[in-house]
Amino acid sequence: MTTTKAAPFTVRRADSTPAPSLPPFGQFIGGDFIPSTSDATVDVVNPATEEVLTQVAAGTVEDVDAAVAAAVAAKAEWAAKTPKDRAAVLLRVADIIESNRELLETLEAANTGKPDAVAEDDISSAIDTFRFSAGAARAFSTVGADDYAENHTSVIFREPVGVVGVITPWNYPLLMAAWKIAPVLGAGNTLVLKPSEQTPLTTLKLAELIADEVPTGVVNIVTGPGRVVGNRLSEHPDVDLVAITGSVGSGQKVAASAASSVKRVHLELGGKAPVVVFADADLEAAAKGVRSAGFWNGGQECGAACRVLVHESVAEKFIELLVREVSDISVGTPGAGADVEIGSMISGAHYERVLAALEDVRKDGLTIAVGGNAIEGPGYFIEPTVVTNVPAGAVIASTEIFGPVVSVETFSTDEEAVARANETIYGLAASVWTKDSARSLTVPRQLDFGTVWVNSHLVIATEMPWGGFKGSGYGRDLSSYALEDFSRTKHVMFNRSQG
Ligand code: NAD
Repeated sequence: MTTTKAAPFTVRRADSTPAPSLPPFGQFIGGDFIPSTSDATVDVVNPATEEVLTQVAAGTVEDVDAAVAAAVAAKAEWAAKTPKDRAAVLLRVADIIESNRELLETLEAANTGKPDAVAEDDISSAIDTFRFSAGAARAFSTVGADDYAENHTSVIFREPVGVVGVITPWNYPLLMAAWKIAPVLGAGNTLVLKPSEQTPLTTLKLAELIADEVPTGVVNIVTGPGRVVGNRLSEHPDVDLVAITGSVGSGQKVAASAASSVKRVHLELGGKAPVVVFADADLEAAAKGVRSAGFWNGGQECGAACRVLVHESVAEKFIELLVREVSDISVGTPGAGADVEIGSMISGAHYERVLAALEDVRKDGLTIAVGGNAIEGPGYFIEPTVVTNVPAGAVIASTEIFGPVVSVETFSTDEEAVARANETIYGLAASVWTKDSARSLTVPRQLDFGTVWVNSHLVIATEMPWGGFKGSGYGRDLSSYALEDFSRTKHVMFNRSQG
């Protein structure tokens, strides 16, 4: 039976918001903003108001080729710098972001509709990523020299891969750029980055702010559509590695285009994180955990706690607690207060996709325990929603909705919980809620996900690797593993019986 609770949600709107400081128009190539080879542009929209903020260039293959040429020209000099000198540049970038924090937060929020708390967290995490990568670049080493064949001494060098193509998504525009730029540069590569066509502003602004600090051609930004700009980066013969954060479909296309030049591919793709709540769990803590980790960034989060599997004996109690938590979530525009928890969806098209998924939930006869509707505009706002009575294999529990929607299924045994949690094409993140110490060690080892939290969800540490298994891709962001991914080993062997 479908029971939709009367919508208790309204959008709290800011009285006024500061005008965002927009970046210059053009492609950032070779240290300057230059015109695209095409006059075509893409509108950049504020999704909380539906107003057009500005336009950016709809880049071309020729724009990418010029940016790659600039990155190729800069690569030898940047690679030859000592780790200490590269680290100094990354630390200056971190300082520049920090001293422009408010400007970047305002711009990010205007372009994404995310609440102030999320924009603040994004910028803080971006700063930390640059600082961590600066330190990691200096601590990065290989095993010492040794003999492994008679009269021969082996040395392993760790080298940059060369030019890295980076393609970023719209959910955390500057943060996802930082997750790539910092380790890519720290490991000694130059790069060409294509931001999402929907959210290019903070990436372009960063380029403007750091233009005098980063040597010419080391960082290049080309805006435009994925199928043109992203595809050219993926197939370009002078790009040595292409890294994308995005959906599974885009990752597949990038990997296919990259195959023609046999370049390395780094994929951070979608997720559908299970939240396994055992009967012995602290149910209140689990419900609060889902409130924050299921609805952070409006659920537009690849690791969102969006698919609860709860033991049948405590399901009723847990759902009651979760509905109470979610009913209390505050929805608002940027600037409407530090306590606003969720903002708008990123675009009209995505808003329609999430609403269509909720329509399917209704058609399938599932229960909408709270939320389930659009909130009156302007802006692409959707109520925080909990769907219950979800059977195994339901579409809502297996596809990435990427909105403020959490589904709840039940299970009977530990074996069933593990099997059902693993029954997904994704393998990015999961959480386990239990007070049983044996379970807290055993179950995470049985789950096929790159990150598993125990009694927590969505806590990210810059020192720890982030990345998935299965359809969520391969490659690691954050941690020294990211620097490893963006570098290559070279073995040099010396014959000591000669000369
Ligand atoms: P998307 O796949 O639509 O776009 C991501 C980027 O890929 C954009 O810049 C887009 O222009 C580009 N692109 C699209 N088609 C392309 C092609 N044929 N060739 C090259 N590039 C192409 O994803 P999105 O909607 O911007 O972001 C949401 C997705 O990102 C979700 O699936 C989410 O789970 C995923 N994501 C994953 C992580 C992670 O760490 N694993 C982090 C954030 C977001």
